[in-house]
Amino acid sequence: MSIVTLHDKSFTIYLSEETIQQKVRELADALNREYAGRRPLFIAILNGSFMFASDIFKHLTVESEICFIKLASYRGTKSTGQVITAIGLDQDLYDRDVVILEDIVDTGKTLHEFLPQLHHQQPRSFAIVTLLHKSEATKFPLSLAHVGFEIPDKFVVGYGLDYDGLGRNLKEIYQLAPDV
Ligand code: 5GP
Repeated sequence: MSIVTLHDKSFTIYLSEETIQQKVRELADALNREYAGRRPLFIAILNGSFMFASDIFKHLTVESEICFIKLASYRGTKSTGQVITAIGLDQDLYDRDVVILEDIVDTGKTLHEFLPQLHHQQPRSFAIVTLLHKSEATKFPLSLAHVGFEIPDKFVVGYGLDYDGLGRNLKEIYQLAPDV
């Protein structure tokens, strides 16, 4: 399929299934080398990263653990502003090699605001692996250990990413088509 329609919008193919799977294997290979003997704890950020996390985990040969969390933002007090909480983070991160698995880093705001909570638990090491990165859109500084694809600042769907609930099941990644 080279064009898909979700709700009222059309999307054109941007990354094929084969291209994505090849990159996932490369990322897994790199992680297998870096984390040999360290039993890393992978933390996949839901919802969007479920497919990426599942695929990359299948290619990991190092002894490793994975958990899935959801980041929810709510309005705190006037002084705290927006607060990000992690739902489902019940593992003890102290002295662990932690690897965050993200589907996409856009402005970087969500992770940037969440990281202090992780650091508070004093992991031994900490790294972010994202399949997609919109570097033009990134406004909050983040150190990304591995990026699958640098992509332009255009809305994408598929491979776990949705447009208003639809499109997560697509094996490819699609880009919003310009209005005609
Ligand atoms: P942030 O701006 O905090 O880096 O990104 C927050 C979240 O916005 C991402 O985790 C992702 O869920 C969503 N997002 C950002 N860009 C896109 C995109 O192009 N497509 C979809 N489907 N979601 C996106």
